[in-house]
Amino acid sequence: MRRRIAVVGGGPAGLTFARVLHRHGHPVTVLERDPARDARPPGGTLDLHEGMGRRALEMAGLLAEFDALSRPEGQAMRILDPDGTVLRDWRPGPDERANPEIDRGQLRDLLLGPLDVQWGRGVTAVVPGVAGGGALVRFADGREEAFDLVVGADGAWSRTRPAVSPVTPQYTGITMVETSLDDVDTRHPDLARLVGDGSVAVYGVNRALVAQRNSGGRVKVYAQFRAPLDWYADGSNVPSRLLALFDGWADPVLDLLRHGAAFAHRPLHVLPESHTWAHVPGVTLLGDAAHLMPPLGAGANLAMLEGAELAEAVAACSGDLDEVVRAFEERMWERAGRWARITREGLERLVSPDPARALAVFDRVQPS
Ligand SMILES: Cc1cc2nc3c(=O)[nH]c(=O)nc-3n(C[C@H](O)[C@H](O)[C@H](O)COP(=O)(O)OP(=O)(O)OC[C@H]3O[C@@H](n4cnc5c(N)ncnc54)[C@H](O)[C@@H]3O)c2cc1C
Repeated sequence: MRRRIAVVGGGPAGLTFARVLHRHGHPVTVLERDPARDARPPGGTLDLHEGMGRRALEMAGLLAEFDALSRPEGQAMRILDPDGTVLRDWRPGPDERANPEIDRGQLRDLLLGPLDVQWGRGVTAVVPGVAGGGALVRFADGREEAFDLVVGADGAWSRTRPAVSPVTPQYTGITMVETSLDDVDTRHPDLARLVGDGSVAVYGVNRALVAQRNSGGRVKVYAQFRAPLDWYADGSNVPSRLLALFDGWADPVLDLLRHGAAFAHRPLHVLPESHTWAHVPGVTLLGDAAHLMPPLGAGANLAMLEGAELAEAVAACSGDLDEVVRAFEERMWERAGRWARITREGLERLVSPDPARALAVFDRVQPS
């Protein structure tokens, strides 16, 4: 029996879910709010872990293409003191592929492949309990459509989530400001050397600066610090306020901010660590919609693995679809809860009054 399945959101979770269903010959409707594939910049680089994001790509039949695109050398990691002293300098060996990096835009295009996404279809609400156990999707343009299963993969501020849970993300007290530098190898060769092939991270008292190489000579820079939610306010004087915050740090490190092109505010919100809900027939959540956590290398990996696992389970189901979804949710909650705790503790250490605690994180965080 062919069920009508919809996924809300074309991020890592939604696209992986759709691509694995597509691989199994099962039709799926992908509803994405963005008006087009390139409607906004896709963001920075993601490291996909063995057994998580890479496993999901394998389930989608895309591992070989991913390996051709990804950057294993991007796993390199250098850690500096605010005075510029190198504390750690790790480079991957030639066969080290545990956590290769890929640009989000490249990953999106890889997953999109033959998928027929419905762009510009912002969902405003999902109403369960209709169509014999399915759910109704409401759109921003006033239209409605019924499905047997609606999968909410619509990220942190999910419009699907209220169908199953009243919980909303809460501010962690730690904010992030992102900027980027283009053509570093030609325009800023010193900074290109500082960042190397992968990342450079600097940890100070209650603040951190991380720079990551993306493909095509682009470097993304993330300043993280404890601040009230309205720190960014109207976005005025952000570079000079950031330089004041990081005053006294080594000049090459501050140059990463001085040469930043545009600044974007990303206050870090999370859902409760053990976010679960009473199962609702016809609706479920994946990825950030289900378990938003600090951005410490787990969110996209979990989102993709969940997407792939749910898709395989749905494709294989010839009986009670609701039971399959219920069992999936139990597995997702257990695994995501563990990662939510790891990433919360990690964030507390990385942006802490004692920068020595930050270094310990790199000995402890292992994917599972
Ligand atoms: C700076 C930064 C760095 C990170 N680095 C990593 C990393 O290295 N590794 C890692 O694993 N994770 C990383 N993460 C976390 C990761 O980005 C997220 O966990 C991941 O993107 C979640 O995927 P998702 O598909 O659940 O949600 P999203 O990526 O948020 O995608 C949601 C999609 O839904 C669409 N949408 C939203 N609302 C609606 C609506 N109402 N109707 C229709 N469509 C809608 C959006 O347009 C979007 O396309 C990082 C996060 C940040 C902020």
